[in-house]
Amino acid sequence: MSGVQIHVLCIGDELLSGNTLNTNLAFLGRSLADAGYRVRREICIPDTPEAIEAAVVAELAEADIVITIGGLGPTSDDVTRPVVARALGLSLRLDRGVLREIQAYLSRRNVRVPSHAIETQAMVPEGALVLPNRTGTAPGLWCVADTGKAVVMLPGPPRELRPMFLESVLPRLRRLAPPDRIFRILKVCGVPESTVAARVEALLPAFPGVSPAYCAKPAEVALRLCAPPDRGAVLAAAADRVREELADAVLPEDAPNLPAAVGKALRERAWALATAESCTAGGIAAAITDVPGASSYFAGGVVAYSNAVKLNVLGVSGATLHQFGAVSAETVAEMVRGVRRLLEVETAVAVTGIAGPDGGTPEKPVGLVYIATAVRDHVRVRRFLFPGSRENIRLRTVTVALNDLRLHILGTVGDGPSGAPGSARP
Ligand code: AMP
Ligand code: MG
Repeated sequence: MSGVQIHVLCIGDELLSGNTLNTNLAFLGRSLADAGYRVRREICIPDTPEAIEAAVVAELAEADIVITIGGLGPTSDDVTRPVVARALGLSLRLDRGVLREIQAYLSRRNVRVPSHAIETQAMVPEGALVLPNRTGTAPGLWCVADTGKAVVMLPGPPRELRPMFLESVLPRLRRLAPPDRIFRILKVCGVPESTVAARVEALLPAFPGVSPAYCAKPAEVALRLCAPPDRGAVLAAAADRVREELADAVLPEDAPNLPAAVGKALRERAWALATAESCTAGGIAAAITDVPGASSYFAGGVVAYSNAVKLNVLGVSGATLHQFGAVSAETVAEMVRGVRRLLEVETAVAVTGIAGPDGGTPEKPVGLVYIATAVRDHVRVRRFLFPGSRENIRLRTVTVALNDLRLHILGTVGDGPSGAPGSARP
């Protein structure tokens, strides 16, 4: 079964009404992609037996494996198990082993439920493989139709689905079907997606079978280089060549994200970091400290939202604030110097800007952001005009500030800001 066709069937009125975000799909899609498989189709349907039966039959006509999510619980709207069994022509029987497992799980938690509720969840279609549920009651069920195609039923609660998928479904899938493709992911920061694409695609003809896919987030592009499973050496060579081409814009392989890459660069130099944040009010510090072990290089930060804090805590001069304003290259430079002095560290980053939606003027519009980084006495300031909502402006500020800091530590000057001219001041 090469190029296995996997379809995902998400079942639940609450998904369609928007009351529950379909995080299971995101999890399955990502986990399967990371393992080299592809979800070819996903559909989301209501809890009715008619909808479930029609969808299972229709998807199974095209897929090799249909994964259903939800509807395995004990309540009357949980009908996936009997409907799938009927669609596959399989009878259901009470599985005593599963019954005992559920009883043991409930008694460990001191929970009492009606016996019919337990029995419902212990019904197993004939020939189905039971996928143990370590974190809940209803087990998953791997059923095989007489065509050899499979329907894999998984419980809806993410805390049950996730371990079950990783521990039981993925290993079995790997035994049954080779992955479609192998891949390498390169995280590229500070270069617009279209530029990444142009530079990568100019190189790839030299590496037959390797194809790119891009996932762009604010100021960050995840480049996925894919190849057939037998092209490992070509894929590795392509990844090396792209890394060489994009140089420091690519995060190191052992850094899963930008804050981790900043942390790695600081740890390698035994340098400490401080932050001074106006418009992000701690967002940079929060991102830095999302990384385990950040205490070894992050000293602390100042949320300098008001002018009083910029003046009294960071030591920005009253004359600077008066003459240039709180959102200015001059102020952010004094902020970064001030916090570095205050916390006695080698490196610092400071930001000030207008996140909106109010507060913009023709000279200083919403989205205007100044970012300063300091490595010892060397200060670098850049000016940006970020588009979008308050949330987007703040998120971009955090990401770009982290990348500017990373590049400054590495001794690299970043690409010019997208959308606005940069102004570098010593
Ligand atoms: P069920 O197994 O259908 O009774 O669902 C149990 C719980 O899992 C409910 O709280 C659902 O909202 C949740 N759930 C079901 N499907 C999904 C999904 N695709 N993503 C996230 N949560 C889900
Ligand atoms: Mg449900």
